[in-house]
Order: sequence, then structure tokens, then C-alpha cells
Amino acid sequence: MLLKEVNYQIQGVELAEIAKEFGSPVYVYDAEKILSQFQRLKNAFSGVNLKIKYAAKALTNQAILKLLNKAGSGIDVVSLQELELGLLAGFEAKDIMFTPNCVAYEEIQAGVKKGVTINLDNLPFLEKFGKEYGSSVPCCIRINPHIDAGGNVKIMTGHKESKFGISIEQFPEILNIVSKYNIDIIGLHIHSGSDFKSADAFVKAADILFDLSNNFKNLRFLDFGSGFKVAYKEGDYTTDIAELGEKMSSSFQQFCKKYGRDLELWFEPGKFLVSESGYLLVQTNVVKETPDLTFVGVNSGLNHLIRPMMYGAYHSIVNISNPSGVEKPYNVVGYICETDTFGSGLVMNEVREGDILAIKNAGAYGFSMSSNYNSRFRPAEVLVYKGKAHLIRKRETMEDLLRNQVNLEL
Ligand SMILES: *Cc1c(COP(=O)(O)O)cnc(C)c1O
Repeated sequence: MLLKEVNYQIQGVELAEIAKEFGSPVYVYDAEKILSQFQRLKNAFSGVNLKIKYAAKALTNQAILKLLNKAGSGIDVVSLQELELGLLAGFEAKDIMFTPNCVAYEEIQAGVKKGVTINLDNLPFLEKFGKEYGSSVPCCIRINPHIDAGGNVKIMTGHKESKFGISIEQFPEILNIVSKYNIDIIGLHIHSGSDFKSADAFVKAADILFDLSNNFKNLRFLDFGSGFKVAYKEGDYTTDIAELGEKMSSSFQQFCKKYGRDLELWFEPGKFLVSESGYLLVQTNVVKETPDLTFVGVNSGLNHLIRPMMYGAYHSIVNISNPSGVEKPYNVVGYICETDTFGSGLVMNEVREGDILAIKNAGAYGFSMSSNYNSRFRPAEVLVYKGKAHLIRKRETMEDLLRNQVNLEL
């Protein structure tokens, strides 16, 4: 009983109270959780110069960016707009890594003007970059290491057919271009998706980067991207951060010794920092019994949280309005006129019309992937910071839906 109640509050603030005060649907984030994840990652690495570059695309609210900036994080951005949001939140250009994929070359030029670190991920742009800037603007190269890693590791962006990074098989061409224009390579980067499970898989990927590093004399950092796995349900395998820190720290130290200089070790976690901090609170519109199933229809849908429909992601859901109700299986569905399922066969305390449900692990790729589909307003966002709930984004209104529409007299 007690345990359950603890789940339904953040820093002593009742989730139910937040829904009452700010309405629903509403995204709620726990600042303490974000900071503790940040600290956990920092603490796991010792004897190396670790830099954390939060992957801003996971959740870009200014309050979250400011929180992480204050904690000492840098950021990784994938668009000029995220770059601007980062600068507005107080990040200095030197702490921003720009890792675009298939953007126009003009965006890269604009990034250079802003003074951020550019991460190049294709040969034509490396060539253009060299031609234009020569050795005057340092940059990083994103390598696709083609880790299909046997069996248990499913990798989403580091495999051979992926559109990300420059293939390791094209490494000789990288070297040709770099020497032709004398490009100042200060970093190498790999990001192998979000499905790395074991610390050993990371270390294996790191070894590949260590090998390549010996071809560049001016390196300042190696960036191992992200891929930390977080638990979405009980029993899910997660990356053992302590083990990862221990193994990576020691192999990185050895590498630096051989390389002859202490480099920075970078990671770009998104999910790891913000996923578990977030809850999407929704209200039950209807409980609909069919001969086989019980549907709980809520006042939200794939327009607000697309992960279940887009990736088949599992999110656990709890009924915070009836914590002692009898447990029953439910299919929780949204109000969008498409197949719109948040979860099937979920066991929850009995759900009644009007009950507030909390969809967990909604901090990463929740609001940032939300839309106005079905002409619905996007939810409000609330950050619980120092024991108090703060509104950090207002719920949209009709004005927002019409803002950029141009009236045509017909
Ligand atoms: C999306 C992304 C990340 C973050 O991935 P998570 O799985 O959320 O940790 C890191 N680096 C790059 C380049 C990305 O595109």
C-alpha cells in the first residue's frame, strides 16, 4: 500500500493534485529524478574526464534545458532550432554538439557561425567542409561502426544499412579527404541506437573507436553517443551504469595512455536522463465493456504520446484515483480516430469514469513528438522542482491551432 502511494507523488506533491490544479492531459516531470540520473552517470565514471551532452530531442522544454545546464551538462542537438533553444536556455556554444543527419549543408554553415561543434556524418559534406574551412574550423566525424553484434544486441543506428554516420568501410576515404584539406578532426563519434544492453557491448564499440583514433593527432574527445537502456516495465533489462562506468573508465584510461594525451569521454543520453522523470496524466472518459475486453478510453492519444503506436513501446499505466480498487485487466486507448492504443492487457486498480491514470516513463520522446492531429491541443507541461509544481508550458488553445493559418476569403 505504502509503496503504491509513494509512486503517486513526486517530491511529496500528489499527482492527483497536479491534475486538479493544471487539468489533464498534462505532462509532469520530476526535476530530482533528472538530476539524480545525471549524477548517477557522473559518479559511475572515475579517473576520466566525462562530459555529458544531453540529447535535447528527447525533451526540449526550456526549463528542462536550464535544469541540465545548471547541473553542468552540455547538449547534443540535431537541428538549428534545437541549437537556438539550447543557446536560449543558457548553454554556451562550446558546450553544444550539432549532430545533424541529412540536413541541408547551409544548416552546417549556420552551425559553424554559431560556434558549436559540428559532427559530420557523410563524405560529400566532409569534402565541402574541408574545401570551405580547411583547418580553420575543428570538427568531429560520426562513424558507423557496423556493429551487428551477435544475437542479443539489437542495434538501431549502428548497423550497415543505417543512414547514420560514415561507414567504417569508407574510412580510407575519410582519411583522404581529411589530409587533402588538412581538416582539424577533434572528435570521433558513434551512436549505435538505444538498444545496447551490456556494458561489454559498449566496450566493444569503444575498441573500434580507439583503433581509428590513432589516425588523428588533434583529438580532444571521443563521443560514444547513447544507447543506455531504461526499464519500461518490471524485469526489463537495463544498462548497468556502474558496471559500464567501471569498464569504460579503465579501457579509456588505457587508451589515453597509449594515445599520449587525456581526452574527454562524451556520452549523449536522452532517455536515460529524462524518461523515468516523466508522467502523462490522463483522465478516463469512458469505461467500455465488450464481450471480451474492457477498454478504458482516455482524454489523450497518439497525438500526445506516440511511442506505443510508433515503436510498440511499452508504458506501464496506473490508476492514481483508486489505489485500493480491485485489480483488473484493461486495454487503455486514446480518443484519436485511428488504432490508438496506449497499452493492452494492463492490470490496474478498478477504473471508473473520471479516474486519473498516470502513464509512466513518459519524459523522453513524449511531448517532443506530440502533434495537433485531430485538431487537439497539445498538453500542458509541469515541472516539480524543489517540492513545488511549476507550469512550464501552457496547454494550447484555439488560437494556437489557427496561429499560422492565413484567412482566405472565399
Ligand atoms: C537520439 C540521439 C541520442 C539519444 O538517444 P537516447 O536513446 O534517447 O539516449 C543521442 N545521440 C544522438 C546523435 C541521437 O540522435
